Amino acid sequence: MKLASLSSRFNDTVFTPYWQETVSARRDLPALTGAHRCDIAVIGAGFTGLWSALKARERHPNARIIVLEARHLAEAASGRNGGFSAPSISHGVGNAAARWPDEAEALVRLGRQNLDDLEADLVTYGIKAEFERTGKVNVAATPWEAEGLHDMQATYARFGVEAKVLSGDELKRHLNSPRYPAGLYEPNYAYVNPARLVHGLAEACLRGGVSIHQDSPVSAITPDGDGVSLTTPRGALRAGKVVMATNADLPILRRLRPAIVPIFDYTIMTEPLSDAQLESIGWQGRYGVADCGNQFHYSRKTADNRILWGGYDAIYHRGSRRDAQLLNRAQSYARLEANFLEAFPSLSGVTFSHAWGGIIDTSARLTFFTGTALGGRLAYAMGFTGQGVTASRFAALTMLDLLDGEETERTQLRMSRKRPFPFPPEPLRGLAIKVAQSHLAREDLTGKRSMLLRLMDRAGIGFGS
Ligand SMILES: Cc1cc2nc3c(=O)[nH]c(=O)nc-3n(C[C@H](O)[C@H](O)[C@H](O)COP(=O)(O)OP(=O)(O)OC[C@H]3O[C@@H](n4cnc5c(N)ncnc54)[C@H](O)[C@@H]3O)c2cc1C
Repeated sequence: MKLASLSSRFNDTVFTPYWQETVSARRDLPALTGAHRCDIAVIGAGFTGLWSALKARERHPNARIIVLEARHLAEAASGRNGGFSAPSISHGVGNAAARWPDEAEALVRLGRQNLDDLEADLVTYGIKAEFERTGKVNVAATPWEAEGLHDMQATYARFGVEAKVLSGDELKRHLNSPRYPAGLYEPNYAYVNPARLVHGLAEACLRGGVSIHQDSPVSAITPDGDGVSLTTPRGALRAGKVVMATNADLPILRRLRPAIVPIFDYTIMTEPLSDAQLESIGWQGRYGVADCGNQFHYSRKTADNRILWGGYDAIYHRGSRRDAQLLNRAQSYARLEANFLEAFPSLSGVTFSHAWGGIIDTSARLTFFTGTALGGRLAYAMGFTGQGVTASRFAALTMLDLLDGEETERTQLRMSRKRPFPFPPEPLRGLAIKVAQSHLAREDLTGKRSMLLRLMDRAGIGFGS
């Protein structure tokens, strides 16, 4: 595939996610055919669905568990993301402190615990997902962003989260970029190869006797006695309980549709870089890097030292379109390229081996929410907004608590219990997103938060990716 209007750096680019190429053994997981019964059905085989199935197996060793996936493993967001694995379930410490001040301590603690537990699970199940806890450097491009890093450090300190401001030579030893004069290093941040994590979780599920069916989109969910019936093109499944983990796809339950919007996010990736090239930009360690504007880039190394450079554009298509052809966007790749070269001028000779896009399930407060339907027989979680690699595990556990009728610290969190502010219907939706995005872009340029954004803050409404 070639995309018109891209520079010669994209001449040999593969326009599908790099991560998919790193998975060697793929299982044949046929579609559901005929009529079946199970105790627990899971809709969606991304991180959220697979963690749900795996953790359901731990809790209910004898239950029959079936996962139904519309596409193939790692084809959706879980196989397309940056692999940034946050010690957070709340889209960061700042978001927790600003939106849920009285439960922020719990959110920060549970987020750190969740990352530790995720790492332990990878060891227990022998999942080789290239997990590495190598820290993150947050970088600032403007004086107001640099000031923001000090505020960020102060907020972190209130919750006992370690972080160190970097400047001058110390910053240059971490990242030597003319674009970023200030940084904040946080050691407790991890990375995974996301496609390997999906396949590793799926393998662990299969070993535990869970069935997974690909090419099995669920089109209808109906109450059926004390259970639930699910319909797929070639099969039917009656389940006692259902986990719905469909992320950015159109929610099957109508009432959830206003709660999320599909936002397209894009990534470009360099060819493997030499030690000399990495030295030229001061990037010696394996930490990731993210800048801190509203329109931000995230960047990390792969195992073979390619640089992944993603983010900035967050594209909404009127009518909440989710078409697969929108997963590639030449304008976004060109913008990412220009911003990459501005950040790393010494790398002007590189070419980009891969470029791809993915869909983020943006909620109007940047975090997931959970809930139940059909008299408690179905639990759902969605709205991860660009930070779901680790939060998906926590959301899965929350859904299982809800289905088991258990009141736990997880189910009591206001963050996950309360549904986010709904997005209005079209044509207002597209307009509202456009206006919010233009105010956020202006704040990036001026450092001034507009009246509209402050009103949204006060109403607990946020927009981002
Ligand atoms: C480009 C990009 C970069 C990102 N970077 C990061 C990052 O660095 N760090 C981070 O924490 N988060 C990141 N995210 C977000 C993260 O990828 C998601 O939050 C996470 O993968 C959500 O997992 P999931 O299982 O809920 O969703 P998905 O992986 O989307 O899985 C949902 C699955 O449900 C299936 N499905 C949908 N409808 C049906 C149906 N009716 N029947 C059957 N199956 C159905 C879909 O096919 C899909 O496989 C990024 C996202 C994108 C798109």
